[in-house]
Amino acid sequence: AKELGKSRFKVFNRKMHDQALQLMELETDLRRAVDLREFEVVYQPIVELATRRVCGFEALVRWRHPEHGIIGPGDFISLAEDTGLIYAIDNLVLEEACAQVRRWQTLVGVTDGGELTVNINISGKHFGQSMLAGQISRALDDSGLSADALNIEITESALMDNPNVAEDILQQLKDLGVHICIDDFGTGYSSLSYLQRFPIDVVKVDRSFIVAVDTDQDSQAIVRTVFSLGESMGLKIVAEGVETSGQLEFLEREGCRFVQGYFFYKPMSVADVDHLLEGQRRV
Ligand code: C2E
Ligand code: CA
Ligand code: CA
Ligand code: CA
Repeated sequence: AKELGKSRFKVFNRKMHDQALQLMELETDLRRAVDLREFEVVYQPIVELATRRVCGFEALVRWRHPEHGIIGPGDFISLAEDTGLIYAIDNLVLEEACAQVRRWQTLVGVTDGGELTVNINISGKHFGQSMLAGQISRALDDSGLSADALNIEITESALMDNPNVAEDILQQLKDLGVHICIDDFGTGYSSLSYLQRFPIDVVKVDRSFIVAVDTDQDSQAIVRTVFSLGESMGLKIVAEGVETSGQLEFLEREGCRFVQGYFFYKPMSVADVDHLLEGQRRV
């Protein structure tokens, strides 16, 4: 029995060893990826329901790994946060997406600089850093994008982990003129008090509430409540992860104005968005 235990321990140990090696290799790769800019940004359209038009995009990062192919953010963002590489990655996405959306504004001939918008995800870890406002300001200057067209997406927990720091940083961002968007609304903090405390402009209702909204009465009640709360507070509400016509019917009936999800569009490459916008020229 003793022998068996020992060999089991060895096997277990080797597995842990392999996992640690894999993680180290991934970290080395990720560092190199930042240096070589191995990232691609894809864009998921946000649709205005009244017109069925694309009114903006969420920028979503992809890692083009030389051996493993395309890696989604779910597989590297937490490592990027642990290693501090997230600052560079978020910043890369920010710069590229601002420049890209400015290009698309020109392509469709918008007359108001805030007309075609872009949403950028900022990690909670990055959000707490004093350099953020400077980076956003530079990305706006370099791209010529109007601050009005930029929505900064953060999660509830990013705000509530350190509310005093968050308050300072949000004020800096508001001074720049960008909009603040709460991502994954309803999944994080159990209190709504932060909606009152912080200068929030947009709320994205998490996909987990949308998924059963055509059948489940509790989901319906939650989404209805968020809509009426949002309306009375003057917030813009976006429904995330809309996949079916049943979900869409409920949302339209409840007066939802903006949706994002596979029902209309998946995240798209720059070339695919170019084609899409060709059909939406304003002039
Ligand atoms: P998120 O911010 O909640 O982004 C929405 C995610 O839901 C995206 O996954 C999108 O592809 C997916 N999605 C959109 N519509 C649907 C739908 O109808 N059905 C389903 N099942 N999924 C849908 P993605 O691109 O894999 O991103 C995952 C997460 O990674 C994001 O969640 C965000 O938290 C993070 N992320 C992505 N890009 C960045 C970035 O540049 N910086 C940071 N810090 N995080 C990022
Ligand atoms: Ca997001
Ligand atoms: Ca989300
Ligand atoms: Ca999320």
